Amino acid sequence: MNQVLEAVLAANRDYVAEFGDKGNLPLPPGRHFAILTCMDARLDPAKYAGLAEGDAHVIRNAGGRASDDAIRSLIISYKLLGTREWFVIHHTDCGMQLFTDEIIRGLLSSSLETAVIDENGWRDVGRGTGSSEAEFIDWLTFKDLAESVYVDVKRIRNHPLVPAAIPIYGFIYDVKTGQLIEVPKATEVGQAKSSVAA
Ligand code: ZN
Repeated sequence: MNQVLEAVLAANRDYVAEFGDKGNLPLPPGRHFAILTCMDARLDPAKYAGLAEGDAHVIRNAGGRASDDAIRSLIISYKLLGTREWFVIHHTDCGMQLFTDEIIRGLLSSSLETAVIDENGWRDVGRGTGSSEAEFIDWLTFKDLAESVYVDVKRIRNHPLVPAAIPIYGFIYDVKTGQLIEVPKATEVGQAKSSVAA
């Protein structure tokens, strides 16, 4: 068995041994909130936001972007599972700031092997043929971190399937310190509005 697979299964056996009564947790998140954040390996939402099993929904993708699919999850999160507050959390040193649609499309069109980055930028070292299929994916890269948080909170806020009563908070996680730093204009645009008009 390969080493990663073996290590994961060994860790899981330990987890099962200590699982306790977590098998009785209800499906809806007990603390009624959801976090949309980046898949970056340095981020551990359970630790940075103090979550235990059963507490909250955590939706992750490259960048923590408000993609159609992230919004799909958030809508299920409130409509069927009762979350009432949402966080959008991007982070410093995000890999999504290191390339553009054009760059990743170019890399994938020449090879499907892992590319390298150095002082001259991204470079393909792989052999073989790539694919033009990357042309059809919106990679949701960004240049300005606070702006990406703002744009994503705003998109979720203005989505026709998102109720006005859900507040959406915008934050940046600092990978150097572990601190969550608010993006005030994002939280402001994400403010809940009274759900029932008088
Ligand atoms: Zn990231």
